[in-house]
Amino acid sequence: MKRSFKGNFTQQEPIPEAGIEAALAVLGHGRLHRYNLAEGETGEVALLEEEFAAFTGAKYALAVASGGYAMGCALRAVGVKAGDKVLSNGFTLAPVPGAIASVGAEPVFVETTEALTIDLDDLAAKAEQSGSKVLLLSHMRGHICDMDALMQICDHAGVAVIEDCAHTMGGGWDGVPSGRHGIVACYSTQTYKHINSGEGGFVVSDDDELMARAIILSGSYMLYPRHKARPPVEVFEKVKYVTPNISGRMDNLRAAILRPQLADLPRQVERWNRLYRVTEESLRNTPGLKVIERDPKEQIVGSSIQVLMPQARPEKIQTVITNCKARGVELKWFGAEVPVAFTSRYDSWRYAPAQRLPKTDAILAQLLDMRLPLTFSEDDCRLIASIIREEVMDAA
Ligand SMILES: *Cc1c(COP(=O)(O)O)cnc(C)c1O
Repeated sequence: MKRSFKGNFTQQEPIPEAGIEAALAVLGHGRLHRYNLAEGETGEVALLEEEFAAFTGAKYALAVASGGYAMGCALRAVGVKAGDKVLSNGFTLAPVPGAIASVGAEPVFVETTEALTIDLDDLAAKAEQSGSKVLLLSHMRGHICDMDALMQICDHAGVAVIEDCAHTMGGGWDGVPSGRHGIVACYSTQTYKHINSGEGGFVVSDDDELMARAIILSGSYMLYPRHKARPPVEVFEKVKYVTPNISGRMDNLRAAILRPQLADLPRQVERWNRLYRVTEESLRNTPGLKVIERDPKEQIVGSSIQVLMPQARPEKIQTVITNCKARGVELKWFGAEVPVAFTSRYDSWRYAPAQRLPKTDAILAQLLDMRLPLTFSEDDCRLIASIIREEVMDAA
């Protein structure tokens, strides 16, 4: 009899006890708004920002309402205006082009390599053709391109880099934490990311004026002195009358839940990577399947895994997905004609000017994607991989 997997691909771990206790304390005193502080109190949000700045090595950090908000805020703080063109990945998730559209700008999509990273040759070409001065770089599914080469291209072209680190919080490139190459980086603390407050996000930067603008944009009124991981107050004088308030703050309840999770993240990253390596090893050398070889310079966070089915026809891929699903294994396919759940393709984002990305199309057509929540054990991952392996070989 064929074995099935019984686990749940969208079940995360519970909030740690320390987070529950801290949340109850916030509920108990009722000061949920970040600026609602008792005498001498710093507040959970300001403390979390300090801790997140230290975690990434950034000078400044701002906690906000979502990862999508963080990206819109970063684009505004960098100075993107309606009608501007913004370079971004052809392979990413909907909140990325959505953030660009939210400021009235136009996404210019860049091709994808077989390593699932942004195509640097296409980036250089499109930076020149489009004249765009901003790249919203998505480290989609945790795949980090050669950041030294990317920064060289962008610096040369005068392109400011905003990093979308929704899938790389806790990861890095060649010893540098993810989010520390560009001028500003964005993170998400939504339930399916690496720390979980339901909704939430961060903006980090070393740039004084950019960060002062971001803090005012987030809805700080004139209470920005209450932030800890912020530029000096004088910097705000330059921007406070000309920067609109577009409220998207984080609250003390979410921050209370996040602080213990952030402290625990390095240990969680190790656990994710063990699940990832077990799954990767069990899938490697499957005829008809190609694992994505990771660059040794990448410090990964293996919270999901992607594999390619090179040259497979769509019907065959559909068969593998259907048969895996019948055995409890949920694979996502970026080649589907119609967007499903969280997965959509650049040609579904029709508010953006129509663009053709043949290389990206060819890769997405073969790409299978799977979450690895920490509620899975290494044995679960071996079972899941053996099911995929059997179904890929059966479909051959
Ligand atoms: C989740 C996600 C975001 C941010 O999402 P929110 O749901 O707004 O927190 C940004 N980029 C990518 C690639 C994501 O997956």
